[in-house]
Amino acid sequence: MAQVEKFGSILVDPGCSNNCVFCKIKAYNDKKDLTRKEEKQLYLDTKYFIKNKYTKVDISGSEPLKYSKIIPYLRWMTPYFNRVTILDPGNRLADEEFCKKVINSGISTLVLPIYGDNPETHGKCVDNPKAFKKITAGFRNLKKNNKKVGVETTSMILKQNHKNIPKLVSFMQKMKFPLQKITIPHCHNDNKALNYDEFVANFENVKKALLSIKPEYSNIELDHIPPCIFSENEIKKTSFRFFNVYYTYNLSEENEQNEVVKEIVSDYRRQYKTKYCKDCYLFKKGICGGIYKGHYERNLEYEYHPISKSFYLENPERIIYRKVNPK
Ligand code: SF4
Repeated sequence: MAQVEKFGSILVDPGCSNNCVFCKIKAYNDKKDLTRKEEKQLYLDTKYFIKNKYTKVDISGSEPLKYSKIIPYLRWMTPYFNRVTILDPGNRLADEEFCKKVINSGISTLVLPIYGDNPETHGKCVDNPKAFKKITAGFRNLKKNNKKVGVETTSMILKQNHKNIPKLVSFMQKMKFPLQKITIPHCHNDNKALNYDEFVANFENVKKALLSIKPEYSNIELDHIPPCIFSENEIKKTSFRFFNVYYTYNLSEENEQNEVVKEIVSDYRRQYKTKYCKDCYLFKKGICGGIYKGHYERNLEYEYHPISKSFYLENPERIIYRKVNPK
């Protein structure tokens, strides 16, 4: 069974130029930068991870690269860690000079999301018509200037883009940044800021999108998308890997959001077993605990395909799972 890797999570929330349909931070979209209090917190959090000898940290936002002092901050903190990853919508990477500064800031990895192969589809998902031009310019700048930083590309299947996903995968192949991960939205009950029905695609459409990807481009990690939405024969025609290992999400104990975030995360990670699970080798072995709550509720009539012992044992590298909070 896959091990859980420990890393520190640092939040940098200077607001965001995007307005993603699945993001609750969109309520704060008119924010321009970190406040002084948040900046103080950022340094307190980072020092906490340094003091406690964390070797890896992930920086996420809203849009961390929008923080006006992000480059000096990264230059200061990166020597203390073996790996610093930034998850960012990528808008500022369209500026070539800024992109070069990010490349030389000492970070190890940039995780960049893209939701469509054209301005309309990507723009609809992130509610920013200019975002596609920026993220694709960012990829071009990285292709031209980057030899240091690992670039991970991700996408999410939504109601707004599910029909475009196969084209997006081909587009990213041509861009020479093959799509590495595809996921589906996290849903949690208490989040009243979002109407999930506006953007959560059902499993029928998720499956259709994924099976329409050219098989030769399907070497993609599917995060939190259960393998049982496909038959084993369908899986065999692809190279998808199913990934459901939540890394520990550690905010600094200096951060007052720590408890709230833990609660939100454990809520959307809750799994429910379906009537199909009892026949599934993954369930019997405690490898999978069922479907995540929000998706369980939206796919009550779905006919799942339990995973057989022989399929799992023949393909262990394709199903990387860890059970969490089974119900
Ligand atoms: S345990 Fe249930 S949810 Fe998990 S893969 Fe098997 S059938 Fe699907």
